[in-house]
Parts: sequence; structure tokens; C-alpha cells
Amino acid sequence: MQTYTEVGSAPIKARETVRHRVVIVGGGTAGITVAAQLTRKGIHDIAIIEPSDKHYYQPLWTLVGAGVAKAEQSVREEGRFIPKGVRWIQDYAVEIDPEQQLVCTRNGTRVHHDFLVVAPGVVSDWDKIAGAADTLGRNGISTNYAYNLAPKTWEFIQQTKEGVALFTMPNTAEPGYTIKCGGAPQKIAYMAADYFRMTGRPVKVIYATAGGVLFGVPEFCKVLEGVCDRYGIEVLTKHELIAVDPSRKVATFALKDKPGETREIEFDMLHIGPPQRAPKFVRESPLAHPDGAMVGFVNVDIHTLQSPVYCNVFGLGDAAGLPTSRTGAAVRKQAPVVVNNLIQVMNGKEPNKRYNGYTSCPLVTAYGRMVLAEFDYENKPTPTVPFINTCKERFDMWLLKKYGLPWMYWNLMLRGRA
Ligand SMILES: Cc1cc2nc3c(=O)[nH]c(=O)nc-3n(C[C@H](O)[C@H](O)[C@H](O)COP(=O)(O)OP(=O)(O)OC[C@H]3O[C@@H](n4cnc5c(N)ncnc54)[C@H](O)[C@@H]3O)c2cc1C
Repeated sequence: MQTYTEVGSAPIKARETVRHRVVIVGGGTAGITVAAQLTRKGIHDIAIIEPSDKHYYQPLWTLVGAGVAKAEQSVREEGRFIPKGVRWIQDYAVEIDPEQQLVCTRNGTRVHHDFLVVAPGVVSDWDKIAGAADTLGRNGISTNYAYNLAPKTWEFIQQTKEGVALFTMPNTAEPGYTIKCGGAPQKIAYMAADYFRMTGRPVKVIYATAGGVLFGVPEFCKVLEGVCDRYGIEVLTKHELIAVDPSRKVATFALKDKPGETREIEFDMLHIGPPQRAPKFVRESPLAHPDGAMVGFVNVDIHTLQSPVYCNVFGLGDAAGLPTSRTGAAVRKQAPVVVNNLIQVMNGKEPNKRYNGYTSCPLVTAYGRMVLAEFDYENKPTPTVPFINTCKERFDMWLLKKYGLPWMYWNLMLRGRA
């Protein structure tokens, strides 16, 4: 399962001490991409701390939840993507001490380093939704935010013959909270609505978000509002899911514009977009943002991706405190910045490459249609595909999502070639 639970603070025994020039915490999208690019640039003596022996292409989970891809297509052996010559420490990081230039692991390994790249992703905080953790994957309640649960979403969509299909988006405005790929909770709502339309089922689709708008970038918001109108999806803003009662099949929302008030909605199936945050060992480390919206995430300069306190530390990916949408596409633009700036620092120079907040969200809106939303820190559309209008729902973009992007991920990005 990709969505890691907290590992707690297991006592650390001094079992083994190792030292590497560069240590990367997390061997997911960001960690592997950085390791591959550093290796290609001739940097040696790198170690990756990564507990999982599986690597997941998470963007496919939306299509798994919609029944057009198999979960197994999203997973490969992690070992195949650790670049040659890089040491894989297969363990959880549990403590980072940037003063001592040391990372401790759950099994008691002490990993000293000259330079550190922090990229352990985010964890889902299921305890924030009363009753959710115990019922996921049962009673019509699921999420695409986990490898083993995305197939359940598809099962529950198929089982819903009438009634209400409810889809939720968490409160990402709460300091320290986020959700990776903020478009994913609505993508699955569109796919489900299209499925109910194609099969002629009288199912009412409701999309309830804790935010105030459907999508943060006005240009794309307009297109998506049109998609909701087409399907008759009811969009509820300022609705934060706080509890589920699986026996009554009722979801309880806090109404963000009416403090203290709640509202119950009955459902036949429920897809939950979980509130997510940085892992505990990051939140509790000296590298964490001390306050503000990014509290608990890795504190880095939003352009150079370097720690403002420790010049030998960089952060990227979902765990980094960057005010942009957390996606693999963002990582693709962040990784070369980290690699360049890290090498600059190794050579006693200042970071000289800047990340502009680029992110992209391939918003599938129907079986066979997709809008490619690309934007930056200013929420300004930043299209990268030449000659075509990717703001429109398109079949070629759907093909890109289903076939092109996974191929690019496994063969180019993780190999340090894109
Ligand atoms: C349903 C869904 C749909 C998505 N759709 C898209 C999309 O369409 N387009 C897109 O670009 N992105 C999408 N994403 C987001 C994308 O997958 C992430 O933004 C991306 O994987 C972030 O990379 P990362 O390396 O920061 O985190 P991850 O890839 O999650 O990797 C983090 C790694 O850190 C490891 N780790 C965890 N704890 C520890 C620890 N204590 N010590 C060491 N290692 C640890 C984990 O095992 C994991 O391998 C989607 C995600 C989901 C869940």
C-alpha cells in the first residue's frame, strides 16, 4: 500500500553506522528521479533510504478506480529503479538531525552524509475523519489514494445502481494539510458520472469540497463547471467531511462558512479524498516549517528548493513546503533544479536554478476525454504542449494520460532522462 502509516518513534539502537556523500530520504517519484539525474551527472557515493520494495505510478490509480486500468499495471519492483552504484538502505527514516548531518532509521542504522535530499512524500491522516479508517474498502466507501483500495472504488461504482454517489475533497487550507494531485477527487467523480450516464442509471453525483471553488485556476474552473453541468453533478463548496457512519451510510460535513454547523448527507457509495500531511519524522524535525500554511512540511526556498537554514539540505516532491499543487509533473520540474543547485553547493557556489511552481494536473473528464491543466505559483496557465489547446477536453490528451505518461514515467523520468 502506497499511503504509508506513521512509523512512530521506535527506539534507535546504534546497530550500524554508514556514511555517504549524498543521502536521499524516500525512493518514490522524487527520490529516484533525483538519484538518476545525479548519477548521470557523475555524482557518486549516493544512498537512498526507502522502506518499500515496490514502486508505484500513482497517477494510474484514477484509471484503476474507473475500471480502465489494473492496479498491477501501476507497480514495479523498486530495486529495478535504484540507479546502478547507488546504495539502497531499505528502511524507514525516523529521525533527521541536520546539525550532526545524520539520519537514523527504524532498524537503528545511523546514516551520516554531506548532503541531504528529503523526499518522503505525504501520509494520509484518516483519523481526521471519524469512522473512516475502519470502513475503507467496505460498505461502499473507498479512495483512489491507496494501491489496494483503488480497485474497490471501481467495484463500488459498478454496484451503485441508483441513489447518491458522493465524492469529497478535504480542507487543504488548514495549515499543515494538503492533498496530492488535488484534481484526483474530482476526476473520479467525472468518470463515475460518465459511467452512470452510459449505463442509464439514475444516480445523483455529488462533489463536496471544503474549498470555496471547484478548481483554483479560473481558466480551468470554467471548463470543469461546464463538465459538472453536463453530468448534472451537484457541487457543494465549503463542505468538509468530518465523519462517516457506514451502518447508516451517512457522511457528516462541517460547513466552513457556518462555524459550528454540520450537515449530513446520505450516500450509496462514497469516495474520500483524504487530508494529507508530511510524515511525522519530518513534522518533528528541525527541517520542518515552524508555522504558517506550510507548517510541518520541509522548509525550503520555494525557488531554489534549498533549506534556508542548512545549505547542504534540499527538499522536493509532496513533502516539500511549496505553495503549488503536489504532483509528479511538478517533481519533473523540481528535480533538475535540486540536482543543479546541489552540485553548485558541492562546488562551493550559490544555487542558480529556479523552480517557478510549475505543476500539471491531467483532469480526465469522461471515458476518452481529458483536460491538461498546467499552471505555476501565480496560478497562471503555463501550457507546454505546442499547437493544441489543452484547456479543452480532448481525446489525444486521454491517450497521453492512459499510455504516454506512464511510459514516460518508467522509461524516461525514473531513468533521469526527462
Ligand atoms: C490517486 C492519485 C492520482 C494522482 N494523479 C496524478 C497525476 O495525474 N499527475 C501527476 O503528476 N501526479 C499525480 N499524483 C501525484 C503523484 O503521484 C505524487 O505527487 C508524486 O508521486 C510525488 O512524489 P514524491 O516522491 O514526493 O512522493 P512518493 O512518490 O509518494 O514517494 C515517497 C516515497 O517515500 C517513501 N517513504 C515514506 N516514508 C518514508 C520514511 N519514513 N523513510 C524513507 N522513505 C519513506 C515511500 O515509501 C515512497 O516511496 C497522483 C497521486 C494519487 C494518489
